[in-house]
Amino acid sequence: MVGLGPAGCAVANFLARLGLEVVAIDRSTEAQLSTRLRIGESLPPDAKHLLKQLDVWQNFEAANHEKCYGNQAYWHSDKPTFHDFMKHPQGHGWHIDRAEFEQMLRDKAKNLGVAIHADTSIGELVRDGDIWQVSLKNNDLCPAPREFSFVIDATGRQSWVARKLAIERLYESEQLALVAFLQTGQDLKDSTSLVETVENGWWYSAKIPNGRVATAFMFDPRQQQKTVTAGVENWQSLLAQSQHTAKRLAGLNNACEYELLAPPKIVAADSGILQQVYGEGWLAVGDAAMTYDPIASHGLMMSMVSARDAAGAINGLVNGRDDTMKMYAQRMCESFMQYCELRRAFYRA
Ligand SMILES: Cc1cc2nc3c(=O)[nH]c(=O)nc-3n(C[C@H](O)[C@H](O)[C@H](O)COP(=O)(O)OP(=O)(O)OC[C@H]3O[C@@H](n4cnc5c(N)ncnc54)[C@H](O)[C@@H]3O)c2cc1C
Repeated sequence: MVGLGPAGCAVANFLARLGLEVVAIDRSTEAQLSTRLRIGESLPPDAKHLLKQLDVWQNFEAANHEKCYGNQAYWHSDKPTFHDFMKHPQGHGWHIDRAEFEQMLRDKAKNLGVAIHADTSIGELVRDGDIWQVSLKNNDLCPAPREFSFVIDATGRQSWVARKLAIERLYESEQLALVAFLQTGQDLKDSTSLVETVENGWWYSAKIPNGRVATAFMFDPRQQQKTVTAGVENWQSLLAQSQHTAKRLAGLNNACEYELLAPPKIVAADSGILQQVYGEGWLAVGDAAMTYDPIASHGLMMSMVSARDAAGAINGLVNGRDDTMKMYAQRMCESFMQYCELRRAFYRA
């Protein structure tokens, strides 16, 4: 299994519990995995069910995640619309400490017997009859090819394995995000996710644990490639063009008491799906298989749902069924089509 993000950890967890032997690698070092700042932190109330299936619910509940009671949006309007989670049967959602969340999933996989290798990437990947000959690049691991019966691509938007196999990605939309994490002097009182449209894109901000705030400015690269850069001054001037986001970050007394935790970064935020999410001896899960627009706040959930479905499909294959991979692909395709409908309706509005 390649990639130890939420999708990779979740699929390793489900497979290990089905009694299958899993080797999981990630090119990031242990230190990078446990400290990296990553955007993607809103979990809806429905996540509780999946976290229970992954048997991490108690650890999740005991951790330092922020409760989130809903979303508010100034979507081409000065009047906000609210999506109140308190009306949801499961109650509130969360703004998670992403590093802690991923650590919890990795620890669980390790406890279930998954062999985890950080700081490791694939050198060669060759299909030889029914097996993969894989050489791993890592100082401590033998570079000689090792044999695997199945390879899972959980490398996020990179889709590293699928790309290596020349599988193309189909795009529903092109979008980039200018992402920045802030340390605030005073805690934001408001726990909702805030979305606001501006002339050339839209802003997202959310309070995350430890007095931090995650922000992202979403824009269309075809129109804004030259005007949006990762420089701090550019980020500040874009923020100044917003109304509600800038006001929220300035705090109650307009003191602007925050500092950037790291330089702003431009990341991909497009929607797309692999032309083929599985093939002979491989499949893709999570962002490697398909990506959602951040407006949906659904990437983490989708990663874990696809991981559960992928594990079921692989288990079916191991037990001699020849239809489970096809069913997995059909489910992925259907949920992507449904998502595209919703996304279009949302942007039309
Ligand atoms: C701006 C923005 C905002 C978002 N907001 C939200 C949100 O609020 N809520 C939400 O649910 N989702 C959100 N998402 C989406 C969410 O972050 C992703 O869906 C989620 O991270 C996908 O998990 P994953 O495990 O599939 O991939 P990733 O988390 O990207 O993990 C991939 C892993 O693979 C490793 N890797 C990559 N290439 C290789 C290689 N060649 N060899 C070895 N290892 C490799 C990486 O180091 C990484 O650990 C957002 C996304 C963006 C861009």
